[in-house]
Amino acid sequence: MLVVGAGPAGAELSRGLAQAGIDVILIERLPRLDQAAFSSAALPLEAVHHYGLPAHVVASRWSGWQLIGPAQQRRQWEHGTPLGAVLDFGALRQWLVDQAQSWGARVQLATTALACRQVPGGVLTQVRRSDGRLQQVQSRWVVDASGQSRALLGEPGPGMGPLVGGIGLEWLLEVEPSCWRTWTGRLSFVLGSSWVSQGYGWVFPMQSGLLKVGVCRLMDPGSAQPALGPTMAQLLSRIGLDGGHVIDRHGGLIRSSLDRREPHRQGRLLGLGDAVSTANLLGGEGIRHALCSSRVLLTALLNALKLERLGQSESQQLVAIDRYPQLLRRELGWRWGLSGRLARRTWLGLSHAAADRRLERLLTGLETNRAEDLSALLFGYRFERYGPKALPYLLGWR
Ligand SMILES: Cc1cc2nc3c(=O)[nH]c(=O)nc-3n(C[C@H](O)[C@H](O)[C@H](O)COP(=O)(O)OP(=O)(O)OC[C@H]3O[C@@H](n4cnc5c(N)ncnc54)[C@H](O)[C@@H]3O)c2cc1C
Repeated sequence: MLVVGAGPAGAELSRGLAQAGIDVILIERLPRLDQAAFSSAALPLEAVHHYGLPAHVVASRWSGWQLIGPAQQRRQWEHGTPLGAVLDFGALRQWLVDQAQSWGARVQLATTALACRQVPGGVLTQVRRSDGRLQQVQSRWVVDASGQSRALLGEPGPGMGPLVGGIGLEWLLEVEPSCWRTWTGRLSFVLGSSWVSQGYGWVFPMQSGLLKVGVCRLMDPGSAQPALGPTMAQLLSRIGLDGGHVIDRHGGLIRSSLDRREPHRQGRLLGLGDAVSTANLLGGEGIRHALCSSRVLLTALLNALKLERLGQSESQQLVAIDRYPQLLRRELGWRWGLSGRLARRTWLGLSHAAADRRLERLLTGLETNRAEDLSALLFGYRFERYGPKALPYLLGWR
């Protein structure tokens, strides 16, 4: 089995396959896994427990929310105990890859998959090694876990519609202890068109003295959008973080088809994680969904491999694999789908004063909620509990 991409999806799948005794090669184009740690990596505590993530990949824990905007207002919600974690994304990838390797997966960093073609009984993948040499890797299956770049799967075909994308920029800041204390223990989001038009900003606490500050906007094919650099500089200055020392700058794209109807298999090439749109654009969140896709695909693959060992036909093996998209849709749930569609309306529409007024009314409505209710809304996508009050605002009807 060849797995392309050592993000959360590919590394977790490789770990599961290797643990089941399958011969796995995991290739990753980055030479080091602590490089390009583009993800802010906030997630709810249930996901940390569910995926058995160890303490050393957790940079900090949060027990509340702060929403700043649409003007200067700051609203806070606190809970007595932790509700979630902010991970060190580089450490997460390293831990998952170490796990896969210790179960027997062969890991090749600085190796890029270029293309693949189906051959009888398998796939031939062309890869470029760190020294520039090209190599062909033959495997029974190939999994494209290369994230939103979809290195082998390519863009969804005609009739699927273009992917909806968001672009994010994040700086890792070192700040004075007194400053860090004012931001730690909660996830802070900055909302409103005067802050980030068609997007949002965030401040997440990391280890002592460190903050991740980011801005993200949904890409609007219908309008010219300003660059994110000046937006970031303005945000830092308005929230008093422009004195921080920038120790890393990174960023990336997050893309999804929203309805996730794209094929998850092309012959013996399978898609996983962000490569098949598991990232959710509402909060720019995809780590737990990528891990979820790995668990679902692992079960399907192990079933197919068992059928192969039992001498069953290829078409029977493919039936086992082809249950994967449906099972994954079920795992992600209908709320996941709704939240993606809300994301497009919410963020693309947040570009003028009327949208800010709508947002202001929504945030006022949320003031009476508890911190855990906000988590249920933003991580559990439980919009229906706000029913007639909030849904129309979220949907942009009022
Ligand atoms: C700015 C930003 C902030 C985010 N914040 C959060 C957050 O707070 N919480 C959250 O849950 N999610 C967040 N996300 C989303 C989250 O990071 C992704 O959904 C998640 O990483 C997807 O995992 P993946 O394994 O599918 O893909 P990726 O993590 O993208 O991993 C794909 C891997 O494949 C490698 N690769 C690509 N092409 C090739 C190739 N041709 N050959 C070999 N290797 C290749 C890449 O180097 C990469 O390591 C954020 C994303 C961005 C861009």
